[in-house]
Amino acid sequence: MNILETVSLKPYNTFRVDAVSRYFTRIQKLEDVQNLARWYQHSKTPVLFVGGGSNLLFKEDYPGLVAHCELSGKTCLYADESARYIRAGAGENWHDFVRWTIDQGYAGLENLSLIPGTVGAAPVQNIGAYGVELVDYFYSLDAVDMQTGEVCQFDVQDCQFSYRDSFFKSIQPGRYFITAVTFRLPKQPEWKLDYAGLQGQLDDHQISARRVSDLVSDIRRSKLPDPAVMGNAGSFFKNPVLEEKVWLEIRARFPEVPGYPQKEEGLIKTSAAWLIDQCGLKGYRVGAAGVSEQHALVLVNHGGATGKHIWSIAETLIRAVEDRFSVTLEPEPRVIG
Ligand SMILES: Cc1cc2nc3c(=O)[nH]c(=O)nc-3n(C[C@H](O)[C@H](O)[C@H](O)COP(=O)(O)OP(=O)(O)OC[C@H]3O[C@@H](n4cnc5c(N)ncnc54)[C@H](O)[C@@H]3O)c2cc1C
Repeated sequence: MNILETVSLKPYNTFRVDAVSRYFTRIQKLEDVQNLARWYQHSKTPVLFVGGGSNLLFKEDYPGLVAHCELSGKTCLYADESARYIRAGAGENWHDFVRWTIDQGYAGLENLSLIPGTVGAAPVQNIGAYGVELVDYFYSLDAVDMQTGEVCQFDVQDCQFSYRDSFFKSIQPGRYFITAVTFRLPKQPEWKLDYAGLQGQLDDHQISARRVSDLVSDIRRSKLPDPAVMGNAGSFFKNPVLEEKVWLEIRARFPEVPGYPQKEEGLIKTSAAWLIDQCGLKGYRVGAAGVSEQHALVLVNHGGATGKHIWSIAETLIRAVEDRFSVTLEPEPRVIG
């Protein structure tokens, strides 16, 4: 394991914040992960796993070791009567992997096209978009326990997936280095086209995984700022899931408040973007940090902002939404520092 010292993390986070990591290493094979676990147990230095850095905000320099996941490989493990089981290395680019499955003729992941980042980070927050979540096609994952060096396998129950959350994000963050993920893709496609934006866009005879992927990609490009052009981490806040009573109180004062009943009875999800927009903060900017003019949920680095600048914008949004709606916004990315 080759450990570098004092490495800029600017190329490793999509906010393009120029934080520095005290130590840095690349994880390219399983042996590297086991060496990392040994190093961690011996040195007791904090370790942060990083894939594409598209769900991270570095408020300050990182005092430990950043382990950049570069584990590659993708293959169809086997097929049964109803599905194919596809395994990908954690360092594979998520969108390239989705397109590869489509090229092989496997449908399922098309609604999750163009989400930045890596395969290994996708289960961490149970990525979701356009009516589909990773959990819908997840089968199992392999990981290494940093505390013991043991190789473990997690099935869907073990992962405790929920809305933008999992065991790896909120219960044991940073303990397990995910090395590979296996997906179960049904042989009979199950198109999910009832989500706003996709509805009525494709005729029945036009539907294919490639077309859905292209459509989702076009919509995403038109709605979200491209991190390669303007630093951002996508949605900065989760959509709040409220008790119905609380949501009804808000609706009594703001009749247009969006509300989406959840599977769990008595819970309503509302739109964080709508709440921020109502506070007049879309496009809000202080120096180089601000809120996107395209999307009220996306915080942006116009160039040269620090993580602290971006976090201060986040705090302004949290306070404004609390004051107006008594709802507390919860950040979606992991905030370091
Ligand atoms: C423009 C844009 C649009 C986005 N749209 C969406 C969207 O529609 N839906 C959605 O859900 N997300 C979205 N995101 C957020 C982000 O793309 C996803 O959360 C993605 O899965 C993060 O992948 P990453 O490799 O960049 O993770 P990173 O940012 O590198 O890491 C995220 C978290 O995962 C952990 N992690 C990373 N790799 C591993 C590993 N191998 N083992 C264990 N833990 C690991 C990290 O420690 C960290 O806690 C968007 C982001 C951007 C910039």
